[in-house]
Amino acid sequence: MQLETISSISTPVGEGAIAIVRLSGIDALEIAGKLYRGKKTLDEVDTHTINYGHIIDPDTDEVVEEVMAAVMRAPKTYTREDIVEINCHGGINTINRILQLTLKHGARMAEPGEFTKRAFLNGRIDLSQAEGVMDFIRSKTDEASKVASGQMQGRLKVYIESLRQSILNILAQVEVNIDYPEYDDVEEATTELLLEEAEKVKTEIEKLLKSSRQGRIMREGLSTVIVGKPNVGKSSLLNYLIQDNKAIVTEVAGTTRDILEEYVNVNGIPLKLVDTAGIRDTDDIVEKIGVERSRQALTEAELILYVLSNNEPLTSEDMELLDSVRDENVIVIINKLDLDSELDVAELENRYDFPIVKTSITEGKGVDDLEDRIAELFFGGQVSSADSTYLSNNRHISLLEQSNSAISDAIESAHMDVPIDIVQIDLVKTWELLGEVIGEDVSEQLIDQLFSQFCLGK
Ligand code: GDP
Ligand code: ZN
Repeated sequence: MQLETISSISTPVGEGAIAIVRLSGIDALEIAGKLYRGKKTLDEVDTHTINYGHIIDPDTDEVVEEVMAAVMRAPKTYTREDIVEINCHGGINTINRILQLTLKHGARMAEPGEFTKRAFLNGRIDLSQAEGVMDFIRSKTDEASKVASGQMQGRLKVYIESLRQSILNILAQVEVNIDYPEYDDVEEATTELLLEEAEKVKTEIEKLLKSSRQGRIMREGLSTVIVGKPNVGKSSLLNYLIQDNKAIVTEVAGTTRDILEEYVNVNGIPLKLVDTAGIRDTDDIVEKIGVERSRQALTEAELILYVLSNNEPLTSEDMELLDSVRDENVIVIINKLDLDSELDVAELENRYDFPIVKTSITEGKGVDDLEDRIAELFFGGQVSSADSTYLSNNRHISLLEQSNSAISDAIESAHMDVPIDIVQIDLVKTWELLGEVIGEDVSEQLIDQLFSQFCLGK
């Protein structure tokens, strides 16, 4: 089946230095050809070349823009269809006008994610790779984009495929058993082998699930709040973290204006600092948003940086708040180490198990320790994205959880000597669920929904 030719602006709309209109489909060359004037026509140029020329409006012969047109003929393209990319200098009016011309001359406006969807439909990538593309676009640190790019290159796919292969091997064994039911010892041997192999698969699934939290952190950031009494050094810490690590994204829009988020890259982990507006403006979140809401902010955060001053004794207010977050991930920061000690550190250590880091932010001391502590707490040390398969996508996580319970059912049944063809059903189910991760047997509706989450032009 031939799909219509689609067109879209493939670069972020705004003040970019270069903007690209991308066409993909059977008529891509013909449509772009009507608009392009250069030394050669687009029909004549070699595939995978970039060609200097102009875009004109064929109805008026007016020159619209000086461009570079990239021509990529199927099948070695992103979508496996003919692709033309028209590169121009930006300006939102010009780029829109070029887009409009492509639409007027036969292309249809691409839906969000439609280019990647075609790559999937045309068999160039599997679903986990497509989702990797989406995560890659959204990723906030280098490490996060490495995770996504690993997925894009099919790392998760390879992993899932090997698990499915193991299940197929078990199923093959089961078949042998069903074919020769009269031999008791065959059955026993099969059950033993089945259990052994199924346990292995289950262990792998669990490992993958365990990585999911890390994967999600890499993708969405570790939501972090900085709390403490006024004047202990919260703003100083925030500013230090931002300067030291170069804020990645500032002012991510919240629904309420006074909740501001900033991302900083701490040892490769994107820290999403929540409610920085509170720290910046009033220095007192509690006063600003009320005790109830600040408690809630505390429990919703995945990491609490609780700042105390070395120069002040622990107050009952501190203890009350620290008591209420006993089960959370808290790092206590004792700041102002350069000043006289008025804080009873031994008491603090007796009362709580929280890791303690000592800093003097004005002297730039101890913040490195803090950063190491954070990495330790969530990644057991150095974050390595290059060689691990992180599960970071909610759909994958849910499927892996279902796979885990299906294979657990199979194992339990096998232990209880349930007839083997019943065990087989759960194994097949596991195999199917894993298949869904890489896009086998997924419904068209699911595919549409997934690809619609992409940005336009991808
Ligand atoms: P916040 O109210 O908790 O946000 O505290 P600030 O970050 O605004 O700091 C309050 C004051 O303490 C400022 O004058 C800072 O310069 C100072 N301060 C911050 N960190 C240190 C430190 O490590 N040592 C000393 N001596 N002063 C600090
Ligand atoms: Zn402050």
